[in-house]
Amino acid sequence: MTEIAVSQTYSFEFFPPKTPEGIEKLRNTRRQLAQFKPEFFSVTFGAGGTTQDGTLATVLEIQSEGFDAAPHLSCIGATRANVATLLKTYREHGIRRIVALRGDIPSGMVEFGEFRYANELVEFIRAEHGDWFHIEVAAYPEYHPQARSAQDDLANFVRKAKAGADSAMTQYFFNPDAYFAFVDEVRARGVEIPIVPGIMPINNFSQLARFSDACGAEIPRWLRLKLQGYGDDSASIKALGLDVITDLCRKLLDGGAPGLHFYTLNAAGNVSTIWQRLGL
Ligand SMILES: Cc1cc2nc3c(=O)[nH]c(=O)nc-3n(C[C@H](O)[C@H](O)[C@H](O)COP(=O)(O)OP(=O)(O)OC[C@H]3O[C@@H](n4cnc5c(N)ncnc54)[C@H](O)[C@@H]3O)c2cc1C
Repeated sequence: MTEIAVSQTYSFEFFPPKTPEGIEKLRNTRRQLAQFKPEFFSVTFGAGGTTQDGTLATVLEIQSEGFDAAPHLSCIGATRANVATLLKTYREHGIRRIVALRGDIPSGMVEFGEFRYANELVEFIRAEHGDWFHIEVAAYPEYHPQARSAQDDLANFVRKAKAGADSAMTQYFFNPDAYFAFVDEVRARGVEIPIVPGIMPINNFSQLARFSDACGAEIPRWLRLKLQGYGDDSASIKALGLDVITDLCRKLLDGGAPGLHFYTLNAAGNVSTIWQRLGL
């Protein structure tokens, strides 16, 4: 049983650029994507401190251009005091939406900090700030790679949602059935928050394979073999990727998905083409 979405939320995700050229490229990307009037732009946050200042700077720049910006906030390795300071800074700047995550554990990290899982971060944000922030959390239709079992992961997602999340965005996936089955399982456990599919455009096979192996997103065998078979023929990889991802988005929206969250990797080209093909 899937649902018909009442209102849909579209958003674009960026990572904080590290160089002046990267900052300029992201400005251009934003200008192109702004025409689609997304609900918000989100900006990732590196666990362990690598890109954290960049997240704040990027979010403030987006906001100064008049768009809603949602910083990601990962809690692994953080103290309550660090997180409280960051939340206060965001609030003082009028930020109303946070993507609350545990974060990936950096290799070699031995001290986990004062939060172990994202549900603890969600509870903390609610306790400190009431309803000021709209809290987004991550969902895994194909299950989180470190989960002890699918059932355990679902129970953990439900706990996180009930801790006070307003909505969720998923890890990317290529099989719409995994998404619809996940949503049905969550609904059967009494959680009604919107679960917006995360969409990863396909541009480069080796990068996609590396990301997918790390985050547990399954590339179907037929797709993996076809992409791999194109070798260095990037035009064919791109063309197949656009067809596959547009078709995936269409199936998701037709099946009632409450919007789409695009992992842009700071580039507008593929996302714009998919958007136009969908006629959104
Ligand atoms: C939309 C999206 C955006 C992301 N953005 C970033 C980013 O900006 N920066 C970044 O570093 N990473 C980001 N990630 C990756 C994310 O940080 C990793 O997938 C991380 O490993 C898990 O984060 P989480 O918030 O889903 O963790 P959690 O919900 O805490 O889950 C992590 C694991 O622990 C288990 N678990 C959860 N709660 C409990 C509990 N109470 N008891 C026992 N086990 C539990 C879960 O089953 C799961 O296996 C993003 C992921 C998504 C889907």
